[in-house]
Amino acid sequence: MVNLNSDRGQSEALFKRASRVIPGGVDSPVRAFRTVGGSPPFIERGEGCRVWDRDGNSYIDYIGSWGPLILGHAHPSVVQRLQEAAALGFSFGLPSRLEGELAEAIIGRFPSVEKIRFVNSGTEAAMSAIRLARAFTGRDKVIKFAGCYHGHADSFLAAAGSGAATFGLPDSPGVTVGAARDTLIARFNDLDSAQNLFSQEVTRYASINKKDGVAAVIVEPVAGNMGVIPPEEGFLEGLRALCSKQGSLLIFDEVITGFRVAKGGAQELFGIRPDMTLFGKIIGGGLPVGAFGGRAEVMNLLAPEGPVYQAGTLSGNPLAMTAGLATLAGLDVAAYKTLEAAGASLQQGLEQALKDFEIQGVVQRVGSMLTLFFTDSPVRHFDDAARVDHRRFAEFHRRMLERGVLLPPSGYEAWFISIAHDEEAVEKTIAAAREALKEL
Ligand code: PMP
Repeated sequence: MVNLNSDRGQSEALFKRASRVIPGGVDSPVRAFRTVGGSPPFIERGEGCRVWDRDGNSYIDYIGSWGPLILGHAHPSVVQRLQEAAALGFSFGLPSRLEGELAEAIIGRFPSVEKIRFVNSGTEAAMSAIRLARAFTGRDKVIKFAGCYHGHADSFLAAAGSGAATFGLPDSPGVTVGAARDTLIARFNDLDSAQNLFSQEVTRYASINKKDGVAAVIVEPVAGNMGVIPPEEGFLEGLRALCSKQGSLLIFDEVITGFRVAKGGAQELFGIRPDMTLFGKIIGGGLPVGAFGGRAEVMNLLAPEGPVYQAGTLSGNPLAMTAGLATLAGLDVAAYKTLEAAGASLQQGLEQALKDFEIQGVVQRVGSMLTLFFTDSPVRHFDDAARVDHRRFAEFHRRMLERGVLLPPSGYEAWFISIAHDEEAVEKTIAAAREALKEL
C-alpha cells in the first residue's frame, strides 16, 4: 500500500493560523492531535465513509464526527431533507411539528422514555438531567464512574474520560469545591464500588440531612470515552437494583450508544430500564443536538409544567430535528446487520494481524463501536484503560493516517463504523493496519 498522505502542508498552515485566534487551534480539545503527534488534518468535505482534507488527501474515517454519522457523511437522503427544510427557514423560536415527530420516533424505540426534551448538545442534556434528578429526589449527590464522560458541565469534570483523560485533565481547574464535592466517583464494572459510596453517604449524612443523599447514578451503559468497555454481566442489573432500593434515579447516558448498539440503544441490548436517558449525536445526524428523557413524573417537573427551569433559544431547531429524523429513518433492521457485520470483520482482521505480528493487543467491540487497546488483557475500567500502551497507539495512529485511515487521535476513544463502511473500506483498513502493526 502506498504512502498517500504525507503532505499536509495546507492543513498545517491553517492550524497555525487558527491557533492565533482559537485556543489550541481547535474548538474541542479532542480534535488536536497533541497526544498522537503532528497537527490535525483540516477537513474540506466528507462523503460516505471517507473525508478529504485541505491538501486533497482522502481518509477512511472512523471518527465519524465522534459518533453521529451512523449513515456516513452527507448521506443523500439526509442532504435532500436538509435542503428542503433549510428553504423553509432555520429557526423560529416557536414550536414546529418536527420536534414532536422526533420525540415520538425516539420514544417509540425507548420504552423507558415517556417524555423527552431537546437541547443542543450532550453536555446540556446531562447537565439538565442532573438538575431534574436533584429536584425530583431532593438530594444533591451524583455518582459517576471514572473514565465515563458526560460532557463538560462542572458536575461531570471529575475523573472524566475522553479529552479530559487524553490530556490528563480529569478534574478541571475552575470547577468549584462545592460542585466537585457533590460528585462521587465509582469504578466501572465494579458494583461494590458504587454500593460502598451509597453506604458511606447514605448512612453517614443522609439520615441527618436528606440533601446529602444520592440523587442519581449516571453511567455510559457501554463505556465509550475510555475506549470501548462493555458492561460485565450483572453490572447494569446491579446498578438498577441499587438505585431502586435507594430511591435514586438511574441515568443511562446513551449519547453514544443510543441508536448505535441497537435500535433501542444499550437499554434494549441489555434489557435494563433506566429512569432517565440522555441522547445526542445520532439523533441529530451531525447537526447540534442533545435530549434527555425518562419517566413522565420526573420530566413533568420541567418548566413550564413544573418548577425546574431549563430552556434554549435553538433547542428543537428544525434543521437538527430534520437531520435526526432522516438519520433514524435510515436505521432499519438491515442497517444494524450491516453495522454488526462490518464491526465483526474489522475486529477479526485486527485480531488476526495482532496475532500474526505477535503484538499485544485487545480489540473490544459492541456492534459498530470498537477500540484496539495495546495491552495483554481485557480492559474492564479506567485503571486498565490508563495502563495500556498509549505511546504505541500514537505510533499506530500516525502510520494509519499516512495510509489513509483516520482513527480518533487518542487511545481513550471509540472508533465509529457507519453503514457506509463497506467491505472494501474494511479490507483496506485491515491491510493498512497490518502494515502499520508490522512496523511497530
Ligand atoms: N455523553 C457522552 C457519552 C458523550 O460521549 C459525549 C460527547 N462525546 C457527551 C455526553 C457530551 O456531548 P457533547 O459533546 O454534545 O456536549
